[in-house]
Amino acid sequence: MRISTAALRQSDARMFTLVVAGLKAAGTRTAERCLTIPLSQMQATLRMINQQGGRLLSVTPADQAPSPPTPAPAPTAANAATAAVTTSAKHETVPVNLYRPKDPYVGTVLGNYSLLADGAIGRVNHITFDLSEGNLHYVEGQSIGIIPDGVDSNGKPNKLRLYSIASTRHGDNLEDKTVSLCVRQLQYEKDGETINGVCSTFLCDIEPGAKVKITGPVGKEMLLPPDEEANVIMLATGTGIAPMRAYLRRMFDPGERAKNPGYQFRGKAWLIMGVPTTPNLLYEEDFQNYLTEFPDNFRYTKAISREQKNPSGGRMYIQDRVAEHGDEIFTMIEDPKTHVYMCGLRGMEPGIDEAMSKAAEAKGLNWAELRPQLKKAERWHVETY
Ligand SMILES: Cc1cc2nc3c(=O)[nH]c(=O)nc-3n(C[C@H](O)[C@H](O)[C@H](O)COP(=O)(O)OP(=O)(O)OC[C@H]3O[C@@H](n4cnc5c(N)ncnc54)[C@H](O)[C@@H]3O)c2cc1C
Repeated sequence: MRISTAALRQSDARMFTLVVAGLKAAGTRTAERCLTIPLSQMQATLRMINQQGGRLLSVTPADQAPSPPTPAPAPTAANAATAAVTTSAKHETVPVNLYRPKDPYVGTVLGNYSLLADGAIGRVNHITFDLSEGNLHYVEGQSIGIIPDGVDSNGKPNKLRLYSIASTRHGDNLEDKTVSLCVRQLQYEKDGETINGVCSTFLCDIEPGAKVKITGPVGKEMLLPPDEEANVIMLATGTGIAPMRAYLRRMFDPGERAKNPGYQFRGKAWLIMGVPTTPNLLYEEDFQNYLTEFPDNFRYTKAISREQKNPSGGRMYIQDRVAEHGDEIFTMIEDPKTHVYMCGLRGMEPGIDEAMSKAAEAKGLNWAELRPQLKKAERWHVETY
């Protein structure tokens, strides 16, 4: 499927409603689902149904179908690409709020180590908690809450902070009983004094054996599509790598692949990662292994701001890499199987938006129109903080 002016043709824009049984969603099969799609997407959708082991029960012109559950999108070029099969049904099986702040899970720290190499800026740690005592489980792309010990400036118990989960549902040791985080210590200067963030410092300092109050899991924005042939573009800065690390382990780690016979990733995964210096690269060794083992499926592009220069001679930020590869990114986005994930500090969003706008323009598309439609189709996923 291409986003092109050809997709605007009246004949391609006619809508059809497909009733499908037995589609796979988050590892389980749904009973019956209705998909309303333009004619131009028929072939790709039939292929997807076939690949997911679904059964096509009927195809009806949308205007004759009784109350289709999905509103028919307007026949624009962008809609033609994004009307693809939204999969809200998959969200039903995702665990949320198993533990709430009033009654949190108390986990034990199993490990806490620095992810940075010598000469890096700041402090970023990988911290793993034991979950074996309770019922706290999660899927890739979710977050958990941490309630740091102690009280705030008003003498009230500290409030929870959210952290993206950096491990897969199976945990780093593949025993389904741990969760890991990637935490950067927040530090800033105020009135000549260095202020340490409460929870990030609590976590970076924590020792194995310590008990920690955990809530959640939460979040459905960053879930991976169950399709093994999906294309996944990941835009991460700093600790925004956390969910991507989980996705990439699920896709490429040999132990994970052995654990997940129903998810043998065969699509394209492209990580575009922004950090200030080479020693700040996170999980680098794992990613290099994936490049060696899965050269046809994994691509890895770095923006190292204080070492590399952008075409204007300034620092190379993630948005410069997005601009550099805009044409390829958009060619991938034209495929309804492509999902884009963005995670990291909130400040990354305007730069990426600008780069995407320019890349869209070069293809005769309008990013301001296309982005909400990609979002609606659950193909544009953003979690910034
Ligand atoms: C969905 C989600 C996922 C997240 N995932 C991660 C993750 O994977 N890893 C990670 O490290 N963090 C993550 N965070 C951020 C995390 O929740 C905390 O916000 C972060 O760790 C800081 O918390 P803290 O308690 O250390 O800081 P706090 O003690 O709460 O201090 C934060 C406050 O300090 C002030 N402040 C911050 N910077 C400055 C500055 N330069 N000048 C003046 N004041 C300032 C602001 O008022 C800010 O609200 C995530 C956040 C969300 C919402």
